[in-house]
Amino acid sequence: MSLYTVSGIIIRRYPLGEADTIVHILSKERGKVEAVAKGARRIRSRLLAVTQPFILGEYLLFAGRSLERINQGEIECAYRRLREDLNLFALCTFCCELVDKVVQVGEPAPKVFYLTKGLLDYLHSDQPERLHLENALTYYLIKLLDALGYQVDFSSCLLCGAKTGLTAFSVVEGGPLCSSCSSNDLNSLRFQPAVFCSLDKLSSLGWAKLGIIKLGPYQSEIEKLLETFYHYHLEVETRSAAFWKSIRS
Ligand SMILES: [Zn+2]
Repeated sequence: MSLYTVSGIIIRRYPLGEADTIVHILSKERGKVEAVAKGARRIRSRLLAVTQPFILGEYLLFAGRSLERINQGEIECAYRRLREDLNLFALCTFCCELVDKVVQVGEPAPKVFYLTKGLLDYLHSDQPERLHLENALTYYLIKLLDALGYQVDFSSCLLCGAKTGLTAFSVVEGGPLCSSCSSNDLNSLRFQPAVFCSLDKLSSLGWAKLGIIKLGPYQSEIEKLLETFYHYHLEVETRSAAFWKSIRS
């Protein structure tokens, strides 16, 4: 009999059979853990509350042959507001779905865990209308690349190091190109120089200072850059991205 404990965030859940729930936990210790919570959909189940989306909890797991089983769970932070506000729910769903695809079972990813916890803490820290949701998402997506080993430096040209006149982005090489060097990568995408300035500045901020930068005029270009990068390097498409885009205000 093999029991162990993890601290983690519920990043995905779906029903199994009549009353069970399968959860994917982004754990601090072991990367993604997939586990079954027996009877967790019964209203009186002690596992019902600890298997809700975005819950941060401590879970006592029994190692199964193909799937772990949750024996006990204790809530560390419930993040209730993230399930009650539609914008926050959509944003968290999008980010958790992305993480579910890029973090593998049994591969420790502590940086991704702390980054995702940072996102949930930020989104839970104030009234939704006082938060900077677009900035938070963009910041999360840039830092997630860092955490996964794709360090993108938005401050200078990949080839010559120029810090001004950046007009294109090489998706394959993962960095900006100046107007002189952009002809070296015929597949590079063109962007306004301010897009790179904004991303460079945003990536140097912490959660508390996200609001000091205005991404508004460049938001659609930034989305295109990040979406193309994620698609090319991580091969991820996220169903909930469309949901998030359709409801955001
Ligand atoms: Zn250059």
